[in-house]
Amino acid sequence: MRSYSPKIEEIRRKEYGYLNGVTYLDHAGCTLYPTTLMQNFAQDMASNLFGNPHSASPSSMLSSERVETVRSRVLKFFNASPDHFDLVFVANATAGIKMVMDGFRDLKDGYWYGYHRDSHTSLVGVREHSTASQCFVNDDQVTEWIASKSTAEEDSATKLFAYPAQSNMNGRRSPLNWCGQIRKNKPNTYTLLDAAAYLTTGYLDLSNHQDAPDFVCLSFYKIFGFPDLGALIVRKSAGAEIITKRKYFGGGTVKMVLSIDTAWHSKREEIHECLEDGTLPFHNIVALGHAMDTYADLYGSPKQVSAYTLGLAKIAYEKLSNLRHSNGVAVCEIYKDEKASYNDSTTQGPTVAFNIRKPDGSWVGKSKVEEAAIKNNIHLRSGGVCNPGGVATVLQWDSVGMKKNFDEGMSCGDKNDLMGGKPTGIVRISLGAMSSIKDVEIFLLFVEQTYVYSGDMVGYTELLTKLEKEAQPQAPTRTEENKKALKKLLRNITGRIYVAG
Ligand SMILES: *Cc1c(COP(=O)(O)O)cnc(C)c1O
Repeated sequence: MRSYSPKIEEIRRKEYGYLNGVTYLDHAGCTLYPTTLMQNFAQDMASNLFGNPHSASPSSMLSSERVETVRSRVLKFFNASPDHFDLVFVANATAGIKMVMDGFRDLKDGYWYGYHRDSHTSLVGVREHSTASQCFVNDDQVTEWIASKSTAEEDSATKLFAYPAQSNMNGRRSPLNWCGQIRKNKPNTYTLLDAAAYLTTGYLDLSNHQDAPDFVCLSFYKIFGFPDLGALIVRKSAGAEIITKRKYFGGGTVKMVLSIDTAWHSKREEIHECLEDGTLPFHNIVALGHAMDTYADLYGSPKQVSAYTLGLAKIAYEKLSNLRHSNGVAVCEIYKDEKASYNDSTTQGPTVAFNIRKPDGSWVGKSKVEEAAIKNNIHLRSGGVCNPGGVATVLQWDSVGMKKNFDEGMSCGDKNDLMGGKPTGIVRISLGAMSSIKDVEIFLLFVEQTYVYSGDMVGYTELLTKLEKEAQPQAPTRTEENKKALKKLLRNITGRIYVAG
């Protein structure tokens, strides 16, 4: 990580000028686009004529060619062989999830739906069209279910199991081998992997198609920062058995339609052809090609990004865990899963979810933390973060309590931070490829200064400037007193890290 850090500082200066003076810690919401990507895209747009795909004109052909090239490149990015996988461009991960649901919903006998507790709201919604559904409240329930023998009747029903590769709430990563195990052990059961949060820093390898999920949904803006576009990667067998059988057809997905006296149509053959309704977001797909180029130039492989960002998150996690008020009360309650570890990227992504306590043990409201962060140009996320099961679990709300909160006026995204003295949401920081150690240090300084000291210290930006000055050997203001204060700060807040960087 030491060697990666200086490179990041340089990348930050060149490619992310808009980050000057800002500490951005919401990569799980959206990661950030580099300037080169935007310039190359603009240049490409300004010098080429892109027409609506699927006509014979050169402008149309150019768009079609680009779309197909980018489609193949994305499959390659995931080591997904086109013999076994197809890629459908959709608006975002949610649209991909909904496309899968549409296929299952149109099956004659419906479907059973199982989903993991950590699921994003967009995955939970799939239950509404199912004939029966089950929320798995922990991993053990999932593995027991996978190993269990089912009745012939259960086996004959079509089933869909969905889970997030990474929780968008606390960054906990789920086992990726469930998909292969389910294919072997559970007849008629398909798997949907929500990789939207995971892919911001994680690496997905679909080279073993036998063990791969049937469906993978993702949003490209969470990987590359731009464009606003998503994809559904479909294992071809599942595509043919389920989703291409959906009833609806949109423009471009059919070979012929009769509409006047006979309701008849014939669908196109390839999976993506019969699912991409209407005009593709082809300009966005052109941008995606540039996004992949720039990402490779700046960061190399996602594997490097995964290791680097988890290293940063580990520092944040450890410092926040150890932070104490002067009376010994822990400042942060951190919602890390007990099985997850910031030393192991198969169990944890670079996200930290927490709440803050006052010295008397009572809570600081999550939206108060966000407001204070905003005042310090720190961008983070707070609330229920679209993860109803995960948040209810870590905050120990049962459905009776949640319903009561709702009846008393609480709803997602509002400022009812505490109900009956208990937090209703969390504060979340999340890192991305272009995050730096300085982002983490500033954040830690913010927490310590705002919540641990009693507010009688100078602002953290001034403090940092001072720290930087002091880091130079010939700093003119080096009095005994501030040397001592700074040393304490360095030790308490930024530790060895700042000095090393
Ligand atoms: C962001 C996210 C989604 C939704 O992505 P959209 O782009 O908003 O459709 C779904 N699941 C997870 C885990 C996410 O992080």
